[in-house]
Amino acid sequence: MHELIEKLCSGAELTQSEWLRVLDERRGADDEELFARARAVREKYYGREIFTRGLIEFTNYCKNDCRYCGIRRSSAAVHRYRLTEEEILSCCESGYALGFRTFVLQGGEDPYWTDARLVPLIEQMRRRWPDCAITLSLGERSRESYEKLYAAGANRYLLRHETADAEHYRLLHPPEMSFANRRRCLRDLKDIGYQVGAGFMVGSPGQTNLCLAKDMVFLQELKPHMVGIGPFIPQHDTPFAKEKAGTAELTLFLLALIRLMLPRVLLPATTALGTIDPRGREKGILAGANVVMPNLSPVNVRGDYQLYDNKICTGEEAAECRGCLERRIASVGCTLSQSRGDFLER
Ligand code: SAH
Repeated sequence: MHELIEKLCSGAELTQSEWLRVLDERRGADDEELFARARAVREKYYGREIFTRGLIEFTNYCKNDCRYCGIRRSSAAVHRYRLTEEEILSCCESGYALGFRTFVLQGGEDPYWTDARLVPLIEQMRRRWPDCAITLSLGERSRESYEKLYAAGANRYLLRHETADAEHYRLLHPPEMSFANRRRCLRDLKDIGYQVGAGFMVGSPGQTNLCLAKDMVFLQELKPHMVGIGPFIPQHDTPFAKEKAGTAELTLFLLALIRLMLPRVLLPATTALGTIDPRGREKGILAGANVVMPNLSPVNVRGDYQLYDNKICTGEEAAECRGCLERRIASVGCTLSQSRGDFLER
């Protein structure tokens, strides 16, 4: 095992140049041992229980124009949809019956969903399912907006930082977006009291090991409760249509390193990982992940939420998804949990 990974295992923080060495000097032959260590750390805190979050993709309207994303505003070919409040609540209702105790409202940055519309929706979810966590993933908003949504009953917020390298950030995003504002959002969210998820795509165009080293240092400092990473996968209608996808191998390596760096972190084996490799999510669990996020969106809109090409699980009903995941998780010696799956503070 690399001496710096040993150092990480002993609880020490690594500097940016040390992270760069870990990435540059990676030897695939050591991966299995690294994964075993990451699993042991996960098991020490969370056992063999894998938490689930029911994902509700409630709008694909977006005012942003991120170059990698299939629902960016310039994509004229996308059929736009927006679930009604009744449809969202009915997704929660069927999700609850299936055993989900976390609902994630994710969408594009849709100006329709103002605070005035979101607050009553969140309040209603909070009243009807008091034992569930409500997670939001709605992109960048003002601090005041984040405060209102938190006061209405939201508990968690997922906002990937995407890349901690300002220049790389500019390559991936339109000029009106900045890493500085992304970081401001993440700090505000944490400050307000949300359990916060950051993260990035692996193998996005222009990403170097130095970018990844900066990502690791950024996460080490921010100490988010959750880290979502998955391979970049090109979408045919975006400027990155012809770019290469990220690999499962590098994603698994990074998942294990993140588990060792932030031992209690909630770490999803993402749908993108399951898309790039048919057993990607299982392999993610074996590399230290402990969360899966199946889709609760109505089947008729799933095909319209295609952030990238060939996304899996767009045809099945939520119940089938849960059954399929249960079998997959069992195949790697774990079980699907029915708890909220909160971050372990101590
Ligand atoms: N609008 C919300 C939700 C974004 S979608 C927000 O800004 O947070 C959730 C994540 O999907 C993004 O953060 C991004 O990292 C990932 N994603 C988008 N396009 C992708 C692609 N082509 N390949 C892989 N992941 C992608």
